[in-house]
Amino acid sequence: MVSLIPSSDTVMQILKRTGAFREGHFVYPSGKHSPNYFQMPLAFRYYDTARVLDALSAEQIYWAEKETNGKRMFRQYVNQGEVNPCIIVDDIIRSGHAIEETAALVKELGATIIGCGAIVRFTSGPDHLDDIPINSLVEFDAHLYDSGEACTDCNKNAAIEYVRF
Ligand SMILES: [Zn+2]
Repeated sequence: MVSLIPSSDTVMQILKRTGAFREGHFVYPSGKHSPNYFQMPLAFRYYDTARVLDALSAEQIYWAEKETNGKRMFRQYVNQGEVNPCIIVDDIIRSGHAIEETAALVKELGATIIGCGAIVRFTSGPDHLDDIPINSLVEFDAHLYDSGEACTDCNKNAAIEYVRF
């Protein structure tokens, strides 16, 4: 039988094999320290992998991206009434800010949000978007430390790698 939704283990294997899931001693742009880092686009370099992860077959796909002014926007000329109804999907949900900004954009266009999903969701992040549950293929318990003093790797003097989102 073909399984359309890959198991959490299968997804983690893909993320490890492609280098999208990394283990080490990382400092995020927020200043938080963590032994894990996800660089999701690495998993989408390979067509086969992207196909497994891209289980949604939508009529239309819109990308909301951060513009140079720091504001998240759809590409120009996406008009009111054209996006409806809508499922919001992100590769990873950490704090939930990105998906909340995207939801606000969708609502500005007058569209109804009927679902929300991610490949990986940090269990420290939100599990709902308003009253819509956020579905994810992997629920990841990220170990995040607010400072170097609290970080176990800093206490072991492990070399730091600074990462971008
Ligand atoms: Zn540290």
